[in-house]
Amino acid sequence: MTKTLIRGRLLSFRRAPQHMADRDSYLYETDGALLVENGLILAVGSYASVKPGNEEVVEIDHRPHLILPGFIDCHVHFPQMQVIGSYAANLLEWLNTYTFPEECRFVETAHAERIATHFFDEFLRHGTTTAVAYCSVHKTSADAFFAESARRGTRMIAGKVMMDRNAPQGLLDTPQSGYDETREIIESWHGRARNLVAITPRFAITSTPEQMEMVQALAREFPDLHIQTHLSENREEIDFTCSLYPQAEDYTDIYARYGLLGERTLFGHAIHLSEREADVLSQTGSVAVHCPTSNLFLGSGLFPLKAIQRREKPVRVALATDIGGGTSYSMLRTLDEAYKIQQLLGERLNPLDSYWHMTRGNAEALSLADRIGTLEPGTEADFVVLNSSATPAMALKMQAVKELHEELFLMQTIGDDRTVVETYVAGVASKPR
Ligand SMILES: [Zn+2]
Repeated sequence: MTKTLIRGRLLSFRRAPQHMADRDSYLYETDGALLVENGLILAVGSYASVKPGNEEVVEIDHRPHLILPGFIDCHVHFPQMQVIGSYAANLLEWLNTYTFPEECRFVETAHAERIATHFFDEFLRHGTTTAVAYCSVHKTSADAFFAESARRGTRMIAGKVMMDRNAPQGLLDTPQSGYDETREIIESWHGRARNLVAITPRFAITSTPEQMEMVQALAREFPDLHIQTHLSENREEIDFTCSLYPQAEDYTDIYARYGLLGERTLFGHAIHLSEREADVLSQTGSVAVHCPTSNLFLGSGLFPLKAIQRREKPVRVALATDIGGGTSYSMLRTLDEAYKIQQLLGERLNPLDSYWHMTRGNAEALSLADRIGTLEPGTEADFVVLNSSATPAMALKMQAVKELHEELFLMQTIGDDRTVVETYVAGVASKPR
């Protein structure tokens, strides 16, 4: 197969930047290139050093644009694309009024397939090449999602939600059917193309203790799989949850009692944690997934991102849109709102830190940094090409920009899908036109 040489400015993180001047934390090549073959990055560096001598290659020149690893979104809901922008007072009202009725429609294969097409179009349009997704309770929704992902060649993580109470009848499984269907989905899709399956109990409110035992059984049988659920998003939700599990010490303890904490467990939101809960997440290596646009939209609270990372026992953190509680598919918009939340908490989230989070940081949170989230040789060739002058307003502001970090900050502050010139999935240009 012919190799492809992609030329442009390259930015890829080696580790989390400690401060704005931490130049060793990232690779930045002003005239750089990636050599790509069979979906993998073969070489990265300056154009002169990477360009093969006498070998035939297809060359694509993206100068002066910036090439970064594909964005990673660690928490989204596939069946909520038509829930975005629904007017509700809070999480529980939003779920009952809009979200649950919408998710009921995913029992129909044709609907699930139609929305799956839109899902991949929208995420790739915004530069996101990996998402960790909740499907609906219906096996049909997971099948539609993974089939479309296989067709696009994307690295996706997803699961059918398990939920057997406190929702409309059309959205309920049973402990046994939730277990059986999750197993079937694992057998059908885990490791097929680039798909990975996550064990996905929606949250403790919608799972009986009997279902939680089945989730635990799955976690034991498939210890390599990710587990995703929600934790401590909203005060009312916390009170209701704890009333359903009176024997548990707190919300986190409910999941701990079923053996669900660990390095592959992703807890959506985790805003209102006690010190004890944060200690437990830290000790088990569990990940708190911050969803800033959603937290602001639903009025859920201000996630203490910097404070929780600065603890003596730091908590691993990932970033996500939480579509459709979240209000934008764009990880750039997500960084912007994350920044503003830290501002309200009197903290600084610098742009290098932000871009690390949505690329390598999120890959590390998923324990997948050896495959995605960087431009390192041997990793999968998912990357985005960004134009920091994509709109007249951006071009005008760029005239005043001198440093890389200023350019990055500009793109996260006023950029969106128009900033994304191209999205490469396994080395193939895949932004929908
Ligand atoms: Zn969510």
